[in-house]
Amino acid sequence: MKQMYINGQFSSGQATETIPVINPATEAQFEEVPRGTAADVNAAVAAAKAAFESWKRVPAWERAGMLHEVAEKIKANEEEIAQLLTAEEGKPLEENEEEVFWAYDTFHYYAELGRHERGRFLPPGDPDQINFVIKEPFGVVGCIVPWNYPLLLLSWKLAPALAAGNTVVVKPSEFTPLATLRLMELAFDHLPPGVVNVVTGYGLEAGEPLVKHPDVPVIAFTGSVETGQRIASIAAPMMKKLHLELGGKDPMVVGPDVDLKTAVTGVAYAGLINAGQVCTSSERIYVHESLFSQFSEELADFVSKLRLGNGMDSQTDMGPMLRNHFREKVEGQINAAVNAGARILTGGQRPSHLEKGFFLQPTVLVGVDHSMSIMRDETFGPCLPLMPYKDLDEAIRLANDTQFGLGACIMSHDARWVKRFFEDVKAGTIWVNDPLTDNFAGPFGGMKMTGGGRELGQEGLDEFYEVKHVHWDVEGKLKDYWYPYGK
Ligand code: NAD
Repeated sequence: MKQMYINGQFSSGQATETIPVINPATEAQFEEVPRGTAADVNAAVAAAKAAFESWKRVPAWERAGMLHEVAEKIKANEEEIAQLLTAEEGKPLEENEEEVFWAYDTFHYYAELGRHERGRFLPPGDPDQINFVIKEPFGVVGCIVPWNYPLLLLSWKLAPALAAGNTVVVKPSEFTPLATLRLMELAFDHLPPGVVNVVTGYGLEAGEPLVKHPDVPVIAFTGSVETGQRIASIAAPMMKKLHLELGGKDPMVVGPDVDLKTAVTGVAYAGLINAGQVCTSSERIYVHESLFSQFSEELADFVSKLRLGNGMDSQTDMGPMLRNHFREKVEGQINAAVNAGARILTGGQRPSHLEKGFFLQPTVLVGVDHSMSIMRDETFGPCLPLMPYKDLDEAIRLANDTQFGLGACIMSHDARWVKRFFEDVKAGTIWVNDPLTDNFAGPFGGMKMTGGGRELGQEGLDEFYEVKHVHWDVEGKLKDYWYPYGK
């Protein structure tokens, strides 16, 4: 059994039960972790609170050095960590090697950004005054992470929270706790005890006590809208700072001027990477009517040739879904669409050649419209529903016809189309011709029901500071505007 990480020690804490960790490609349990409780959260928060007093005073260059060391230790163990991610989450090893690289890069990035500045100096409001703004860490930050990118989404919170001088309690997903725990052993052993703690457990039993804890002023959460709403309703009366990165239903618009092969391959990647289990997956594909029929056929042909299998096999293009109930949700959306008149061009079935694993064939659907759940609700699975549009106005109207606002993609070389698209589509990230790429110097996050936080960039660091304005009168003389009035 793997153990929790509290105050620099690995232990089972107060847990009396365990949670099995299952490989989604084989359906076999291969590890277990403690089923953490509120008592474990209390111990972790107490350790983080005690560590904060000295961590916030560590000189910036020294803290930067420690975070650079985290990055280098991640890199040195890249292959082992990537394999663990594939075993617990399922996506192909190649995608997990990238995930580990991104985690490495995030720590290097915030190591430097965190020592760059801590506020600003203002023109004084009075000649005798000095005015300045200081950015200060909050204290203990609770980081609650989902399963689809366990280390990427952890590092986007953990690196800036630590760089800003906070200490952290992490609650990884109950489905994917192993890479996070291993990272503590491999890459965080040089940090003072209590600066980072990991409590494993279920959302209600370990996540919620973290949200409710009075000594945790900030919750950085990535996950579903439903959980985000629940967390917000608990945290609001306590006036906690919330950082919510929730679900999406990203549109992809294929313009009339595209190179067909490039667009087909790009759309398949945008919708099917990690078996479509990406918050920014392209889940609604709008194709210009002039090329709709040829595009649909070529996409279906391309997608039908993708190779499903265990992510450890280098010939695998797409791994399994995480669990059967997530697969059933996707199948339910596909079946409901078909019952309402949609047509499957390829996929829609569980592959017959794979006996075990939560696999679902990548699916291309036509004949869909916005009355269907598959075009309205988050799918989080390998499905590409295609809809034709007449002109740019219609494409933008359809793209915006959603409660979510995470990302939006367009394939086009027409500058007028692209300009209108990035100006008029309400989403936190716009990708033009290169979907789902990252640049850690820029912010990532959503609008509307996706939540309003931002990760990455300077914005992602500022989420973990609170600001204080200091007015300092260095002369300290009696003021003529003080009492009594009418002098
Ligand atoms: P989830 O909401 O079920 O769980 C996320 C985390 O919250 C897990 O660690 C879980 O244990 C914990 N949790 C559950 N209930 C809780 C509670 N009551 N209090 C505190 N913590 C609780 O989401 P998931 O299935 O792990 O992840 C998939 C979802 O995440 C999708 O909706 C996806 O779009 C979203 N997501 C969003 C982004 C983004 O950046 N916007 C990125 C990745 C995933």
